[in-house]
Amino acid sequence: MIPTNLRGYLLDMDGVLYRGRRVLPGARALLAALDRKGIPFALVTNNSTRTPRQYTRFLATMGMRVPAKRIVTSSVGTAAYLRAALPPGSRVLVVGEPPFRRAIARAGFVPAWEDVAAVVVGLDRRLTYAKLARATAAIARGAAFVASNADPMLPTEHGALPGAGALVAAVAHATGRKPVVIGKPDPRLLHEAMARIGTRPEQTAMVGDQLGTDIAAGRAAGLFTILVLTGVTTNRSPTDGDPRPDLTVRDLNDLRRWMAGGKIRMD
Ligand SMILES: [Mg+2]
Repeated sequence: MIPTNLRGYLLDMDGVLYRGRRVLPGARALLAALDRKGIPFALVTNNSTRTPRQYTRFLATMGMRVPAKRIVTSSVGTAAYLRAALPPGSRVLVVGEPPFRRAIARAGFVPAWEDVAAVVVGLDRRLTYAKLARATAAIARGAAFVASNADPMLPTEHGALPGAGALVAAVAHATGRKPVVIGKPDPRLLHEAMARIGTRPEQTAMVGDQLGTDIAAGRAAGLFTILVLTGVTTNRSPTDGDPRPDLTVRDLNDLRRWMAGGKIRMD
């Protein structure tokens, strides 16, 4: 059943709109339909290594036109969290890549390695022991500890690589402190996205390919949850302990049909 009050959609990107550099079935048509019908939507990703503008350009190479303001990354979410938590101009230690550091700086904070009010950790493919040591020391001295996301691994064409969560775990283990996590499955990123599109949780659907992150975050934030089988999860029977989606669709063509009130294949 389509909830009659559904007004807006939040969509994960990797495994939903594209895989690698290949656009997935129905992605272009779904985005075009949302645009045409004036249905509010935002794209939500745990990835902190691209800015929203870089995502806009990347999506354009696959024929998808999405303005940067509709793209909520974990960098954007982390910056929003810091703005609410710290006075402007506070010094922040950033373990992460240049787009992440720029997002923190643009939010009015001063990236620094010492005397910091907070340590933020995202994916950093140039991580060094020295950076981990600075982060650990700052947290031990009382700095807040914020993680862009807790993804243990990063699926790539070359197999699984360590994700931001693996780096966060190193700092958490060294300090004995738990971070505030911004990305999915925590609901903070979804709250930020809903604030942008102006919908309430009970009016909003979360569309994603991962049960443990996308669907879990959607449920935690009180959204209608839709699993699409084009990414990490490829079958309809979740294993024990995984959250169950409200709806499962094979791909975004099915989702578009469902949104239009049509039948979808359930095989
Ligand atoms: Mg995904």
